[in-house]
Amino acid sequence: MDRPIERPPDMRTPNLISGLLCGSLLLIGCGESTGQTSTMNNDQKNMDQYDHSGNPHYSHTDTTALNVPLAEWKKLLPEDLYYIAFEKGTERAFTGKYWDFEGIGTYACAACGNVLFQADAKFASSCGWPSFFEAARKDAIHYHEDRTFGMMRTETTCGRCGAHLGHLFDDGPEPTGKRYCINSVSLEFLGKK
Ligand SMILES: [Zn+2]
Repeated sequence: MDRPIERPPDMRTPNLISGLLCGSLLLIGCGESTGQTSTMNNDQKNMDQYDHSGNPHYSHTDTTALNVPLAEWKKLLPEDLYYIAFEKGTERAFTGKYWDFEGIGTYACAACGNVLFQADAKFASSCGWPSFFEAARKDAIHYHEDRTFGMMRTETTCGRCGAHLGHLFDDGPEPTGKRYCINSVSLEFLGKK
């Protein structure tokens, strides 16, 4: 291990099991896997947050639903974030900055700042995308039936701005048995709040 273990040892066993399950579902998990792996470690990845200075909708405390036209989001957001969030793109497995990140703190929607997950609900998954077993609050995330690519999946979107986040699966660890498989691009790690 070249990075500190930030969870107690008793949390590692279910993580490993779920990771194995996740790995077996690699091709039907979040879709568009290329099988490529990144050799970057956490120290080499760019953990900088997005610049929200021109985004009037960005807030960690306002939970009011937004109704911002796509054309405005396109002007406000970086190209890669707009593609994932509002064109329902998927980042390649093992390329995002958070899939193996173990920082303790809060994850928010990168488009609007809505708090989505706490790091203590993140688990080590081998599928190549950051994975969580529960959302930060009941209405933080919305759920939609997704029949694309010949699969029946549950799409997850930001409960505030509607940004596409990823998908929800039923092969996660206890206590929920859920796996929120989320694009790193759609997330922003805020640290401890
Ligand atoms: Zn959002």
